Amino acid sequence: MLKRFVLLLLAVLTGTLTVGARADYQPKAERVIDNVYALVGPLGQRSADNDGLNANFGFIVTPKGVILIDSGASRLGAEKIAAAISRVTDKPVRWVINTGSQDHRWLGNDYFIGKDAEVMALARTTVTQAEFAAQHMDTMKRFIGERMQGTKPLPAPKTLAGDSAILELGGETLMLAYTDAHFPGDAWVWLPRHGVMFSGDLIFVDRLLGVLPWSSVKNSQKAFHALAALKPVYIVPGHGRVCDLAQVQSETGDYYDFLAEKVGVAAREMEPMDATLDRYADLPEFRHLENYEGLHRANMNRAFTEFESQ
Ligand SMILES: [Zn+2]
Repeated sequence: MLKRFVLLLLAVLTGTLTVGARADYQPKAERVIDNVYALVGPLGQRSADNDGLNANFGFIVTPKGVILIDSGASRLGAEKIAAAISRVTDKPVRWVINTGSQDHRWLGNDYFIGKDAEVMALARTTVTQAEFAAQHMDTMKRFIGERMQGTKPLPAPKTLAGDSAILELGGETLMLAYTDAHFPGDAWVWLPRHGVMFSGDLIFVDRLLGVLPWSSVKNSQKAFHALAALKPVYIVPGHGRVCDLAQVQSETGDYYDFLAEKVGVAAREMEPMDATLDRYADLPEFRHLENYEGLHRANMNRAFTEFESQ
């Protein structure tokens, strides 16, 4: 017993026992349709166990290699994503596209660059990545500690100009467009031929979406309406299961409409904030969503502040 303990201590001190040896959560690829896959993460918080992969990712297997949507929240998270892809195909990851600047969208970029992938994003996405890099590294270290070791925050080196971009690789066409929803510069990736939308953090299902101090309900509502007009058949949301438009309408679209049309209008008409938040404190149509208790009031508060200042 003592001998085993001493050996373990030695292994830790000499660094022969790597941090990669722990943490059970391993993302599994599920086929959305054809050659399009999703990696659906757990709904809860970032943890050492899930290596910050509490979000969704996706990939498309083409004859010219794999296109990955978002790279995970750490180097170890990126390794787990790569492992999940390698169970589906032995083709290398050629492209990584970042849909946003929140930790889990891009802190794994450096890992994939090291594997010769080209990492890209719309230009304003990368600006926000650089702005939030230090803050997101600190937050991730608080959540997963030493498992952030080796993670280098590297904004997407290839930036795409304009408000949208059309990309083609191996017979696939991908259309990127800004949503500016959860973070400024957030974007979606739309695959028109497959009817698949990777929405990034514009859409949350199964759990209530979070409005952060830098999120915009106004932009989100507008982007959501534009997304619905495309009539995607499959939506890979930022968080929650792969689903159809009806589910995202009732769990995300209707909530943005509520925030803009009830809370936002009250703010514009200069009604008192507390009374407004009290009036809408209990919304049975969203109560079943995870995190409702913890987020709903703060979401309304931020929506009120956004609309009040306009
Ligand atoms: Zn997210």
